[in-house]
Amino acid sequence: MNEPAFYLPPECWGAEVCLRGQEARHLAKSMRLDKGSRVALLDGHGRLGRFRVCGVDRENVQLELLEEQMFPRPAARAAMALAASRAVRRGFFLEKAVELGAHAVWIWQADHSQNRLAPSSEQSWRSRMIAGAKQCKNPWLPELRLLPKGIGEVAVLASSADRRVLLWEMQENVPLLSADTAGQEGLSVYVVGPEGGFSQRELAALDAAGFVPASLGRRVLRCETAAALCLGLHWWASHLNGTATGNAAQ
Ligand code: SAH
Repeated sequence: MNEPAFYLPPECWGAEVCLRGQEARHLAKSMRLDKGSRVALLDGHGRLGRFRVCGVDRENVQLELLEEQMFPRPAARAAMALAASRAVRRGFFLEKAVELGAHAVWIWQADHSQNRLAPSSEQSWRSRMIAGAKQCKNPWLPELRLLPKGIGEVAVLASSADRRVLLWEMQENVPLLSADTAGQEGLSVYVVGPEGGFSQRELAALDAAGFVPASLGRRVLRCETAAALCLGLHWWASHLNGTATGNAAQ
């Protein structure tokens, strides 16, 4: 689909739908689309539809469905557990997370995080991901979670995953992340520390929770670089391994 894309939450989906608020303004004011235009809508849960605009007023846009397609979740799913860091760089990562098809982004409060997680920012982070999804037309939005209680919450959430990987810059005896680990079928949780590194307490908790260390090379990377590279490698490996797409049963 080459049409510009907009976001419509799954509960609002139907044969005749209405875009409101920011999405309606984006369509009518920024893109200057009008009655008769064709657009794509995505619901963030795997559905992508082609719609025709049938009415535009100040705050609402009416559309009718022409055709729709469901995309299954990828077979290899990556949950990125990223330590809280400065907002501007996290925004960059949230956008890349949608482009590179992250299944989930968990932002956790680390002992050495530079700032505290503010629950009030959740909506703006979600908006950032929606903007990224519209741009690249990924019909799946990553699940976003804030984990203010830190590493214990990461361990609990990761306990049902198929793989748990600790990205660690220490070089001795830490194997490189490879396509045998990344991009495998099922849910893989990758945990990335803050700029100040993991605390001993956090390393012990991750070890107890079954996280296995993996390196991304010889240089110490900034946390968003490490997270984007790791997710990029997962994405690349999932194409190599044939797990980038899913089957409809998932
Ligand atoms: N402890 C370090 C810096 C941490 S960098 C210090 O204070 O000097 C932030 C996070 O990015 C790390 O906790 C790790 O999860 C990840 N990271 C950075 N470079 C990495 C590498 N080469 N391999 C794997 N993970 C890396």
